[in-house]
Amino acid sequence: SAKAAGKRTCRLFGAEMETRLHERLHLEAKLRAALCTKDGLFLFYQPITDVRTRRVTAREGLIRWHHPARGWISPAEFIPIAEESGLIRDLGAWVLRRACEDAATWTDGARVAVNVSPRQLGTGTLAPAVLEALLASGLPPDRLEIEVTESALLGDEKAGLADLRRIRDMGVRVALDDFGTGFSSLAHLRAFPFDKIKIDGSFVRDAVTRPDCAAIVGVVADLGRRLGVTTVAEGVETTAHLDLVIAEGCTEVQGYLLGRPEPRDADVATIAGLVTPATRTAL
Ligand code: C2E
Ligand code: MG
Ligand code: MG
Ligand code: MG
Repeated sequence: SAKAAGKRTCRLFGAEMETRLHERLHLEAKLRAALCTKDGLFLFYQPITDVRTRRVTAREGLIRWHHPARGWISPAEFIPIAEESGLIRDLGAWVLRRACEDAATWTDGARVAVNVSPRQLGTGTLAPAVLEALLASGLPPDRLEIEVTESALLGDEKAGLADLRRIRDMGVRVALDDFGTGFSSLAHLRAFPFDKIKIDGSFVRDAVTRPDCAAIVGVVADLGRRLGVTTVAEGVETTAHLDLVIAEGCTEVQGYLLGRPEPRDADVATIAGLVTPATRTAL
């Protein structure tokens, strides 16, 4: 009967949900343990290069997690779990601390860029965490750059902007990440004096075959120039991408062509010693 079928569907759905919930709780517990011991958590760095001088102006910190049984897990998978469980606060503080400590040792004076989750904005906790990382590392504030996506400002926009103003008043730079993929981009540019606009890699990759995407890259570069803001093209993988974004007027570039995210020297041996299951190898 329909009623029995409904019940059966419900039970199947329930079982699948239960498995997913288990998986999630398991990952959350493992992530909590990793945060506690700092085992398996790494911050990789990817260069951001000035197209005119060809020098590395900044390195973006990108978090990596090696799960004891599953191997490398993408931040796209575990950042949401950290956000929903509240672990993002400790994780974010760890990333800030590590990034500032590492950048303080760089002899080329490049800045370090740190991604901040929407959940870290608008809670009043960002500025104290940034200050703590700067003081502990001795890194000058103008060598730290905080990357926020537009979606980070969608919730409580006033509170989010207030947090950003507090860190910018310290002399920390603020970048708008993944530009073009969110909403009300221009409103955000009016609401806050961002130091940098990062054009999402999807536009860059499509621009070589799609004139409309090339036009979008060019218009954002023009916008940046008129606002006096650096524009970074993300996801530059080929010389064709590079030539195009330079022609369109982007001032900085980031992507596999210029350099992949790499561990710091101190982590290379540890990473080489990790046993990675065949199922998950992607870094
Ligand atoms: P994002 O901040 O936009 O970082 C850029 C992503 O593009 C990174 O992915 C990077 O590895 C990847 N990428 C760089 N160059 C290329 C390229 O040439 N081609 C392609 N296809 N991809 C490229 P990743 O490391 O997997 O990070 C994904 C997202 O996870 C980041 O996007 C960021 O939103 C988030 N994330 C990473 N680390 C952190 C962190 O420490 N804290 C927070 N809150 N989020 C983080
Ligand atoms: Mg970023
Ligand atoms: Mg990005
Ligand atoms: Mg992104």
